Amino acid sequence: LNIKVLEALKMEKTAKEKYEFKKLLKKLSGLKGQGTELVSIYIPPGYNINEVTAKLRDEYGQAGNIKSKQTRKNVQTAIERLMHALKHFRKPPPNGLVLFCGNLSREAGGDKVELFTLEPPEPIQIQTYKCDSEFFLEPLEWMLLPKETYGLMTIDRREATFALLKGKNIELVRNMGSMVPGKHRAGGQSSVRFERLIEQAAHEFFKKVGDMANSTFGDRNVRGIMVGGPGPTKHDFLKGNYLKTDISNKVLGTVDTSYTDDFGIKEMVDKAGEIVKGLEVVHEKELVNVFFKEASIGNLATYGEAEVRKSLENGQVETLMISEGIDMKRIGLECSHCGYRGKKALAGDKEPPEKCPKCGLDVEVSGEEEDIVENLSELAEQTGAKLEFISTDTTEGEQFLQGFRGIGAILRFR
Ligand SMILES: [Zn+2]
Repeated sequence: LNIKVLEALKMEKTAKEKYEFKKLLKKLSGLKGQGTELVSIYIPPGYNINEVTAKLRDEYGQAGNIKSKQTRKNVQTAIERLMHALKHFRKPPPNGLVLFCGNLSREAGGDKVELFTLEPPEPIQIQTYKCDSEFFLEPLEWMLLPKETYGLMTIDRREATFALLKGKNIELVRNMGSMVPGKHRAGGQSSVRFERLIEQAAHEFFKKVGDMANSTFGDRNVRGIMVGGPGPTKHDFLKGNYLKTDISNKVLGTVDTSYTDDFGIKEMVDKAGEIVKGLEVVHEKELVNVFFKEASIGNLATYGEAEVRKSLENGQVETLMISEGIDMKRIGLECSHCGYRGKKALAGDKEPPEKCPKCGLDVEVSGEEEDIVENLSELAEQTGAKLEFISTDTTEGEQFLQGFRGIGAILRFR
């Protein structure tokens, strides 16, 4: 294996893990408690488990004051189960430990308290105990945000602010005030002269801001830059060639904000998420369109579980594409009449075939049900194919799921 292949393998693992993690979070976020009775616990790496247990014992006592008998019972049962689960850990795993517990069947009149234990893909920073009507997922959701650093700047004629965005974290780098005069001229000045003074001062200010942007964002090797501020100044600045080419090439777009100080930066971050998400959507759309094109007029695409599997086994696949909306399983079939043994992929809601594909007599389902995603991504890993999960958030992604059952591949060769 050369280094390139190794890197590709690493990426696939990440894509796969991200998919699994996303799936789990989606499931957990859909779960609601009937009252304030779902317990979430975050334990950072290196944290003393005994302290968590002591805290839980304390919470158990306090839960005795809960008025609703059913809620009280559910919270206390959840805490008991959590304390029991923690006995299996001498210390938290390397990335820490997250536990969720609560009665999720109460709406249906059920009485079953469920427990989820997970080790997150990244180290947890916070230690917390929360009891609410839903599970506390934000710290895990943040882990799904892009890891690259983005540059943020706001500008108007009075000031400019620079910041870096990494995940949810904003690092303010610097704020610069300008000496550009206000709109009201002093008595006695001619308006033409005044205008020229203003423009000259603005130009000087933009130059300084440009130098600052070039060094701030150039040094940090940001993946993209967003420029915010009220009114047209940000556009004037961008049109004015104040940024070096490699920096201006990284400008992703502009965002209207009311402020240009740290409030303006925070305003931007709320909208920046959309821009970054937009970028991921663009990548996904491009990929799916390449696939559509190859599937219709080219010949470097293949689809359908069996075909894709065959191409993977032949080492033909460059990019394996799996829809996040896929619902499919793989079962084994065994025929006692003719000795046929085989595997078949089935839509999640379909019943297995009753007749043997070889002799037509009754056939039996054998062995364990396999997870298609698990199975195909392992094959991709073994053959150095890139793995991409396609969301169902775009029209293209939806078409990919509906029209191609959510499994496709772009081939290296035929
Ligand atoms: Zn048979």
